[in-house]
Amino acid sequence: MSEFVEPPRTNSATHCTPEQYEALYRRSLEQPDAFWLEQAQRLDWFTPPTLGGEWSYDPVFIEWFGDGTLNLCHNAVDRHLADKGDSTALIFEPDDPSGETRSLTYRELHGEVVRMANALKALGVARGDRVTLYMPMIVEGVTAMLACARIGAVHSVVFGGFSPEALAGRIVDCESRFVITADGGMRGGRPVALKSNVDAALAHEGVAVDGVLVVRHTGAETAMQAPRDRWLHELASDADCLCEEMRAEDPLFILYTSGSTGKPKGVLHTTGGYGVWTAATFHYVFDYQPGEVFWCTADIGWVTGHSYVVYGPLLNGAAQVIFEGVPNYPDHGRFWDVVDKHSVAILYTAPTAIRALMREGDAHVTSRDRSSLRLLGTVGEPINPEAWRWYFEVVGEKRCPVVDTWWQTETGGAMITTLPGAHAMKPGSAGKPFFGIRPQLLDAEGEVLSGAAAGNLAITHSWPGQARTVYGDHDRFVQTYFSTYMGRYFTGDGCRRDEDGYYWITGRVDDVINVSGHRMGTAEIESALVLHDSVAEAAVVGCPHDIKGQGIYCYVTLYADREGSDALAEELRQHVRKEIGPIATPDHIQFTDGLPKTRSGKIMRRILRKIAENEFGALGDTSTLADPSLVERLVEGRRNR
Ligand code: ATP
Ligand code: MG
Repeated sequence: MSEFVEPPRTNSATHCTPEQYEALYRRSLEQPDAFWLEQAQRLDWFTPPTLGGEWSYDPVFIEWFGDGTLNLCHNAVDRHLADKGDSTALIFEPDDPSGETRSLTYRELHGEVVRMANALKALGVARGDRVTLYMPMIVEGVTAMLACARIGAVHSVVFGGFSPEALAGRIVDCESRFVITADGGMRGGRPVALKSNVDAALAHEGVAVDGVLVVRHTGAETAMQAPRDRWLHELASDADCLCEEMRAEDPLFILYTSGSTGKPKGVLHTTGGYGVWTAATFHYVFDYQPGEVFWCTADIGWVTGHSYVVYGPLLNGAAQVIFEGVPNYPDHGRFWDVVDKHSVAILYTAPTAIRALMREGDAHVTSRDRSSLRLLGTVGEPINPEAWRWYFEVVGEKRCPVVDTWWQTETGGAMITTLPGAHAMKPGSAGKPFFGIRPQLLDAEGEVLSGAAAGNLAITHSWPGQARTVYGDHDRFVQTYFSTYMGRYFTGDGCRRDEDGYYWITGRVDDVINVSGHRMGTAEIESALVLHDSVAEAAVVGCPHDIKGQGIYCYVTLYADREGSDALAEELRQHVRKEIGPIATPDHIQFTDGLPKTRSGKIMRRILRKIAENEFGALGDTSTLADPSLVERLVEGRRNR
């Protein structure tokens, strides 16, 4: 289970060696303020901070670099003009592979950001205003975020795949008076009606904004409502637009969590700490080398897109791909076509995409060159060792280290991760804590567990990238994260620490199942199922069981060319029994053509739990589901059992 895979050579001169990691990690714990003030020098400050962290978890109060002032747009763009003005910043790859690629240097990016910022000012946006973005994955999504940061407005990006209702709720929640959108987007060959969704959202009772800025992208016919709606190209200008001097603790953005466990929360991040955290984590985790092309496949609608499409790479002056499309259009080789076309060296994606591509077979991968790849990363869910191996062996040809980065919307950036060069890898383990991070495992009674152990994951000390509050509801922030274990940040995730000090995320704490007194992480059973060569993806939840307390209920999707049967179900039961032990033998196997996922690709286990419990009436908020109709089919499948 916990064998090491030695990291391949990274071909990099700057990666952190094991000794450097140990020394830096120790210093980050012993002298956190000195360490982080040093890291803060990665950024340009109007007034450099002299204060490090000033925080308490009881009562909850968090500040970093409190006396510093800076602007993150200046740091992501203007600062690079002197020595990187002619270097590539963004490479836009459209949904349609025959469409036009668009490449921008840092100088060109600066021009676009200034134009966008001037348009926002002309629309009436002022420092401190919240601005909702509802955008496709295009250059203007990035420039809109940076333009907000430039003028001191607070961006709230809502994923472009969300419904008008979800958009309306998020506009109201953060009292946003402005929206930036596009005439439309394209995903997988299908148009996405962005502007008309905005119109529908704004038609809701009690939703009103002062201005809507519209980017011309697809050229779709677009109804414009005067004086509310304005085209970017009509409002933009090249006039000088200086960067506002922001205090470190001024809000930078609000972002709603993906909602896989409940109603989305408007997580608030501030300027200085978040900037330092994303700059530093990007540097160490991805070990970016000048001239390389980085590609994070996340949408800017998720925190991964904020930290590792917009802020992390640009604060480091990197060149990167932004991709409008999806992994399976026009076919399942699209990722590797993009890698080849733009010579991508570092690829950062999610287990859901890796499993979906693995399911379609190796030929889509091996038919592409991929020799430019040097490093692979994963984020979003625990990655099953089977999928990890496929990523490492087939995609990366054992050449590329894999960094499995555990973090959350609330943490701002990577928290537990292997660092290339510094750590040997263990397939399925996120690895070791990043600098300044002190993980702690606790049991349900609040006892701290030491050594090799499994429990609930908390963090004992604040770090610069930590969220400061839930917008408009500080009590909810305190309740959600700081009340389970007083004086600690509680992550909501279950976790195991092994004898080598590696951390294994076992799934949400709510998903830990208790079979006859044995506590089991769902991730472990899922990984065993995915090892079977018929199984593409699996989600495991508890279900009521008269004798055992809880039984094990498995939802299983098969490889494209396999079919479910009673015989296969029995085979899978025996397979899990053999892999983990008799205690883990599944009670139910339900075959399904898909799993309910959030728009960011995470399995929504709370819905699967309700269905397994036969509670079809209480499925809760399903507004962030990618395919709501799937729920009907799952309920049907459960009823027929
Ligand atoms: P909500 O908080 O509304 O339920 P969410 O937790 O799904 O939504 P995110 O902040 O996007 O929203 O996801 C963070 C969670 O994703 C983590 O708490 C963890 O459960 C999971 N996760 C992220 N990266 C990893 C990883 N590398 N390994 C294991 N789990 C991961
Ligand atoms: Mg969460």
